Amino acid sequence: MRITFLGTGTSVGVPSIGCGCATCTSNDPRDNRLRTSVLVTEDGRNILIDASTDFRQQALRTGITKLDAILFTHAHADHCFGLDDVRPIMMRTGPLACYATETTWEGLRRVYEYAFVPGGYSAKPRIEPHTISGAFNVSGIDIEPIEVIHGELPVTAFRIGEFAYVTDCNHISDEACERLSGLDLLVIDALRIKAHPTHLTLAGALAYIERLAPRRALLTHISHDINHSEHESRLPARVNIAYDGLVVEAAR
Ligand SMILES: [Zn+2]
Ligand SMILES: [Zn+2]
Ligand SMILES: [Zn+2]
Repeated sequence: MRITFLGTGTSVGVPSIGCGCATCTSNDPRDNRLRTSVLVTEDGRNILIDASTDFRQQALRTGITKLDAILFTHAHADHCFGLDDVRPIMMRTGPLACYATETTWEGLRRVYEYAFVPGGYSAKPRIEPHTISGAFNVSGIDIEPIEVIHGELPVTAFRIGEFAYVTDCNHISDEACERLSGLDLLVIDALRIKAHPTHLTLAGALAYIERLAPRRALLTHISHDINHSEHESRLPARVNIAYDGLVVEAAR
């Protein structure tokens, strides 16, 4: 199973418009972060986790021409504003299976009201909605949804084999921690250094990594407070900062 990081940045992306800080003006391409999303690929099957605001650019630069499904973690703008840009793929291959919890669908139906009303504007995203209510299977790939907490909002983390993707959260319950044990690769939210009401800090992410003890961990959803080369050099063994374009293999 191959994981491609399409974007690793926080909701405004890095650089942030108008910011002159060291990360936003860095020449290191790893400090250029589009909005957070990954592509999971196995034997020609492509599963997209979140359709980020930058999906069009991400698909063009990664060469994505086909998707089997989109899994949505939650309906915040940075994770779903790219759904309309998936239309060229939907036009070629028909309605696309999209998986989300009922809470996330409520948000998606509000944002994409035009896609759900019959008639009207013809160039609408063609969505085949699936409501998550437990483990499910996409084209032969078993997927386990796990609820984590993002301020007040439940967000869906996804476990596929020994890989788990845990974006946008500041709390992981004991039960969820149990379901996130025995991982080969954990991808986890690490927004910034200072405390934040809805996201894990770098220290908070490292504490969960220590508790969950995956073989490897990669940090994502990163703001300009974290400079790649500066902060990466201080991380524990087998923990790295993900960056856009990074491709890693994960055990099933
Ligand atoms: Zn986000
Ligand atoms: Zn900045
Ligand atoms: Zn969010």
